[in-house]
Amino acid sequence: MLPKKHLFDIPAGVIYLDGNSLGVLPKGAAERAQKTITQEWGQELIRAWNTADWISLPQRVGDRIAALIGAPEGSVATGDTLSIKVYQALAAALKMRPDRRVILSDNGNFPTDLYMAQGLINTIDKDYALRTPAAEDVVDQITEDVAVVMLTQVDYRSGRLHDMKAITAKAHAVGAVMIWDLAHSAGAVPVDLTASGAEFAVGCSYKYLNGGPGAPAFIYVRPDIVHDVQPALAGWMGHDAPFAMELGYRPAMSTERLRVGTPPIVQLSVLDAAMDVWEGVDMQDLRRASQALSELFIQEVEARCPTLTLASPRDPEARGSQVSFAFEHGYAAMQALIDRGVIGDFRAPDTMRFGFTPLYLDAADIVAAAEILEEVITQNLWQDPKYQTKSRVT
Ligand SMILES: *Cc1c(COP(=O)(O)O)cnc(C)c1O
Repeated sequence: MLPKKHLFDIPAGVIYLDGNSLGVLPKGAAERAQKTITQEWGQELIRAWNTADWISLPQRVGDRIAALIGAPEGSVATGDTLSIKVYQALAAALKMRPDRRVILSDNGNFPTDLYMAQGLINTIDKDYALRTPAAEDVVDQITEDVAVVMLTQVDYRSGRLHDMKAITAKAHAVGAVMIWDLAHSAGAVPVDLTASGAEFAVGCSYKYLNGGPGAPAFIYVRPDIVHDVQPALAGWMGHDAPFAMELGYRPAMSTERLRVGTPPIVQLSVLDAAMDVWEGVDMQDLRRASQALSELFIQEVEARCPTLTLASPRDPEARGSQVSFAFEHGYAAMQALIDRGVIGDFRAPDTMRFGFTPLYLDAADIVAAAEILEEVITQNLWQDPKYQTKSRVT
């Protein structure tokens, strides 16, 4: 049952409420990196592609992620960064609807997803339009001219959760392709990609999946359409026979066609080790624990810090696994909080963001974090000049 704190290396004196941004280090991950580097790379050298089976590591890790997001084996490819996977999914989806010109997202989407869409539109150099209505207006904006609906299920700022099933059904009703970004969903909320019917999903593995900074991204393609997917980034690792060294590109007959180049083996090994913590975890149990922790946090913070305003949906069913509070001096307050061992983060202009990762947090952590936040706010500890200068990463 949860939590499983013993499976993680959490620094003493730290309450970590930022697993939605960078998950903590799972025990075994460092040893695995060490083994990959010193034994496999160091001793086996290039032979390790076969002897340590590096070559199939991307698929093996993809299958472990698939199990957490309701996707069948073989439907998830890993590698690159999420930004690149967004680009690939979008490019492939547009090709599937050549007579339509609209990409529909929402204005709460993570900026890189929107930037990649803009960059792709510029590359194609046709009259495509990216529409970004408010999240609550998205359903009404899914009209017959939309080629692709591209949404992030959980809003990175507020934690607001889109209804994956209903939106996918609406997209399909008007003939649009559906892409879900699961960056804040994988390992955070139960996801059933198969049931949703969505064509594509993408996500990253350094947030709730604890794969470490720069861990590889993933992409899902619905198995029945994989042969229709034309890869925009036709790299050799997505070729049907990379070592045949053919002059022409022939895509792999699976989601593997969305791989690009040589996989990051050290990061993939770390992620593979990190995936061990999910053994035996029931995502419905995790969801219940996440909601209990989030509700407790909201209750404690609202009682202790009346100057903070909840910036997330109040209904736990409408949130992912994070809670945000708006506070005018949110940046300084977060720095003061971090200085006292409670790590969350800040998103401009005024959002203090807290992630709930039931694998390594319990109710006592939540109450202790709220107590420290109360001190920071009610004693104006954030006013210290040292908390006012913004770092490059917030
Ligand atoms: C975290 C996040 C990203 C980050 O993309 P990278 O390419 O991994 O830096 C992209 N999109 C969403 C929705 C995210 O939450």
